[in-house]
Amino acid sequence: MKRILITGGAGFIGSHLSEKLLNEGNDIICLDNFFTGSKDNIRHLIGNNKFELVRHDIIKEYFAEVDQIYNLACPASPIHYQYNPIKTMKTSVMGVINMLGLAKRCNARILQASTSEVYGNPVIHPQVETYWGNVNPIGLRSCYDEGKRCAETLMMDYNRQNNIDIRIARIFNTYGPNMAINDGRVISNFIIQALKNEPITVYGKGTQTRSFCYVTDMIDALVKLMESNFIGPVNLGNPEEYKIIELAELIIELTNSKSKIIFEALPSDDPVQREPDISLAKIKLNWEPSTPLKEGLLLTINYFDKVLSNKVNI
Ligand code: NAD
Ligand code: UDP
Repeated sequence: MKRILITGGAGFIGSHLSEKLLNEGNDIICLDNFFTGSKDNIRHLIGNNKFELVRHDIIKEYFAEVDQIYNLACPASPIHYQYNPIKTMKTSVMGVINMLGLAKRCNARILQASTSEVYGNPVIHPQVETYWGNVNPIGLRSCYDEGKRCAETLMMDYNRQNNIDIRIARIFNTYGPNMAINDGRVISNFIIQALKNEPITVYGKGTQTRSFCYVTDMIDALVKLMESNFIGPVNLGNPEEYKIIELAELIIELTNSKSKIIFEALPSDDPVQREPDISLAKIKLNWEPSTPLKEGLLLTINYFDKVLSNKVNI
């Protein structure tokens, strides 16, 4: 059993990861500054003597003796990472340097939550790890995209220069329970709008595509990557690709909603298409997602239905 630090552990993905690794018998330090995360996501874990919750911001140094670090701390939704872009960049640069420094001192293995955003608005489709991307360095999304690209550079340089045992997960759009109600990403927005019979806000014409991975599949992939011996970026996501307008129609159908679709302005630099090539994950991790979109959406709809009717705390 290991001592594991999970930064961003009270967030959407981090809370599921904390629960899984705790249930496997590990000692968990769940570290979060609660910018987009919530104690309610991990409230059921508090009280377990192998679970420790720490309020801390990774742009400041942190010391602990750990065997593994999952560095998930960073706002992931465009509205949240653009709220304070300088802070977002500090989290991905200063925060990652602090976590790599900790990994170096403890001789710990460290996994960085990177993103499909490193590919920007991709001209290669589906995206493979060897593609270097097409990122605007000065746009509204750059604080996140370039921050995450710099974090990958730091991971590789600490590996080459200091022999730190690193893993890089390029996470594609992931969804499920524990997303914040004000998260602002497409699946939570559409489900909440549909459940309230409010207009579904499709940005642009809705012809842009994304590929959506259910959170339990993503957690399996992250743990398999951490336990693998592969150094370098690995795409993790579900390769089924959907137009945003198709997603809106599917969510209306599954919620039996009276909502109508409305079209709003497309945010700047919104990628036109996105689909992971997961061949590397299949070979190196023996992993591929198993939850179809419809099934994952129904589980997520059920969660938000309970949240909206106050049957679960948020
Ligand atoms: P989230 O916003 O729910 O979780 C991020 C967590 O990090 C929150 O709990 C937040 O409070 C915490 N945090 C933010 N800045 C921090 C800081 N400076 N110090 C300490 N804690 C901080 O988002 P998520 O979807 O769970 O994403 C988790 C990670 O996965 C992020 O690094 C994100 O970039 C990456 N990722 C997620 C997706 C996705 O679709 N969910 C896709 C690509 C990459
Ligand atoms: N989107 C939308 N309506 C919303 C929220 C998002 O049409 O209410 C679109 C957004 O423009 C993008 C896609 O859905 O094309 C995915 O957006 P999200 O913010 O979830 O993640 P991204 O992949 O852009 O980081």
